[in-house]
Amino acid sequence: MKQKRIDRREFLRDLGVSVAGAGLMLKALDVSGVHAAEHAGTQSSSPATMEYRDLGKTGMKVSAVSFGVMTLTDPAVLLKALDRGINYFDTAWMYQNGKNEELLGKVLKDYGRKKVFVATKIAPVYSFIAKDTMHMEKPEKMEEKMGQSLKRLQTDYVDVLFLHNIVQPEWATYEPMLKFLEKMKKEGKARFVGISFHDGKTLVDVVDAGLQAPCYDVFLAALNFKSPPEHAAALKKARQKNIGIIAMKTQAGGYQDARRGSLSPYQAALSWVLQKDFVDCAIPGMVNIDQVVENTGAVGKKLGWSERKVLDAYYSSIKDRYCLRCGECRGTCPYETAMPIVNRALMYHEGYGNTELARATYRDLGCEENARSCATCRDRTCRCVNGINLAERMRYAHRLLA
Ligand code: SF4
Ligand code: SF4
Repeated sequence: MKQKRIDRREFLRDLGVSVAGAGLMLKALDVSGVHAAEHAGTQSSSPATMEYRDLGKTGMKVSAVSFGVMTLTDPAVLLKALDRGINYFDTAWMYQNGKNEELLGKVLKDYGRKKVFVATKIAPVYSFIAKDTMHMEKPEKMEEKMGQSLKRLQTDYVDVLFLHNIVQPEWATYEPMLKFLEKMKKEGKARFVGISFHDGKTLVDVVDAGLQAPCYDVFLAALNFKSPPEHAAALKKARQKNIGIIAMKTQAGGYQDARRGSLSPYQAALSWVLQKDFVDCAIPGMVNIDQVVENTGAVGKKLGWSERKVLDAYYSSIKDRYCLRCGECRGTCPYETAMPIVNRALMYHEGYGNTELARATYRDLGCEENARSCATCRDRTCRCVNGINLAERMRYAHRLLA
């Protein structure tokens, strides 16, 4: 199956694939010296009170604050999360070239795999033959990848298997993929299945397409306080049809910001998401214990007037650099600089504090798509509808990350 697509570069980076960067971040998988916590949510000695919610129609009760493991390298952080009551962990076949699944698998094997829920993702699109064409993966290859995931996770099943980063609505209903998912369910390798998506241009259409396929149980979607209302409306409609809704990219970059009220901006951003009645849980990415404590501390907190002010102030402080990934700048640069991806690399540096990942993401762009043309560009026709000074930011990125 050949599919027209939106943006090849954006698609690959949405997968969390950083070929050059894979392996840069992983610490040794030694958890032997770390005390294993007791069962999440039931015997925690932590003062945190976790809230558990139904994940759609699955029967799973997942922690409202769950864990996006993607960039994690320290197993002690997972143990802290378990201690704070987190019971749902999200990884993917390609994160850190499989090392991320290995990390999670090792910790959960020691802890007790069946005490928690594990989700992984496999991309249904594998390559771009021509600039505007991409090819769907063969089901046999998907099965092979599923086998690799299970092996790395040291388990014989995942609780949720996602088709990763669905950009085009047609991918969500592609018959061979649906058959693959049904087969994984039938063989007991995936208890439930779903799709993940975050492309701002196509999110609503992808939701509508996903609702046409009866096999899906869960949607994993980008959602935060800057998401357009139509995204929230689409996800609400899906939840009304008993699809479990998990929110990611919840904290708009996680840029450092001074605490201004009773909640930090990150807690306020999480509260915003968790107060949506159609959201079952959120999976903020966390890389250290402080973040686990901070994010789980948002559980049960109400988002009142003062916390909304915190969010307003936070966004004011980041809006000159935070890319909403709306895609509206596409086509405004004659040199095809991949502006949303360069912005994302900057976010890794400025928001996540992960310069290695930022550099790896930037390097993956290559000369054709990175910002090297910006240094000498006189056109400066690039335009961001949200006010980012793209010409300046692109030049800055090249100086910093090239
Ligand atoms: S740079 Fe601006 S226009 Fe382009 S995707 Fe980001 S927010 Fe949208
Ligand atoms: S300054 Fe703007 S228009 Fe010029 S190359 Fe860079 S992104 Fe493109």
